[in-house]
Formats: sequence, C-alpha cells, structure tokens
Amino acid sequence: MLSRRTFASLMGAAANVGGAAASSASAPALNLDALPLAAHETAMRLAIAAAKANPFYPFGAVIIGAVDRTVLAQGVNNTKTNPARHGEIVAINDYVARHGNQGWADGILYTTGEPCPMCMGAIVWAGIGGIVYGSSITTLTEAGIAQIMIGASAVRDAAPFCRGRIIGGILRAETDTLFRNRQRG
Ligand SMILES: [Zn+2]
Repeated sequence: MLSRRTFASLMGAAANVGGAAASSASAPALNLDALPLAAHETAMRLAIAAAKANPFYPFGAVIIGAVDRTVLAQGVNNTKTNPARHGEIVAINDYVARHGNQGWADGILYTTGEPCPMCMGAIVWAGIGGIVYGSSITTLTEAGIAQIMIGASAVRDAAPFCRGRIIGGILRAETDTLFRNRQRG
C-alpha cells in the first residue's frame, strides 16, 4: 500500500478543489475533474484493498478528505451480518465513529462498485462532496450480483439539493476483474 505521504502528494491538487472554505454550507461543490487521475487511482486502490476482505462481495469504500488529503474512513461489504451493511454504509458509519456527523462536504467517497440506491441515498443525505466508483451496475449484474437497476446519477439527479459530482470507471479494469473473479457459493 502506498504511504500516506505519497497519497498526500498525489492528492495535493485537491487542496484547491473545494476552495478555502469548503467546509461551510455555501462552499462550492468539489470539482473532481480538477484532481489528477493518479490521485483518483491511488484512492481507488485503497478501496480495492478494503474490498479484498470480502472475496464474495468485494465492495470496498474509502472516504478521502479532499482538502486535508487524509483517509477519513473505510468499509467493506458485510451483508452476511446485516443486509444494510454495504461497503459505502460501513464507510459512512466508520466516518461518524471517527469524526462525528460533520465535514461531509469535504469528503470524496471512492467505491469499487457503483453505489446502489440505498447507498446513494445515504451519500446524498450525508452531503458527501464527491463520489468515484469503479465498476458499473451493468458489470455488477453480469458478475452475478443482483442490482436495483437505478444508477447512482439518477438518484443524485433526483435530489435537487445534492451537488455531489460522480465519476465512474476509475480503475475499471481492476474492479471489473475483482467482481468477475469473486468467490461464489
Ligand atoms: Zn449499496
């Protein structure tokens, strides 16, 4: 795994992504396109690493601070114990446990698979500043994982108050392989 210092340098451009007052309610939306691709890929590799803890449902997620460049939270699918414990939900709960219910707009959530409507709804309600995923729900379905066929963007677009930008397909070749080669049965 990359060191935090390496990660911080790759995420350096994010310091200006949300502006100096990114934590305030009136802050501009995070501009994910301003980040170098390498920064997105580094964060996605952390999500992939988290996902490997569940070889059956390799959904891993991390929440990265766009401004302070740190890994704020992580999660992996644990639906074996609770059907709502998708990777993104576990990461959101981890975030609250570590940082409290604040600061969401400064965070970028990276997840190996496109967020389902449940997770995307939680992401919207939290007000997470940006969402980056690897594999699409189409690929997840092809990998034999049942999906509610409503894309993350559709959920986001149905919430006029949500300004979170979504980028899909980051390290898709790696995340697609992760899902297609997952353990079954
Ligand atoms: Zn989900």
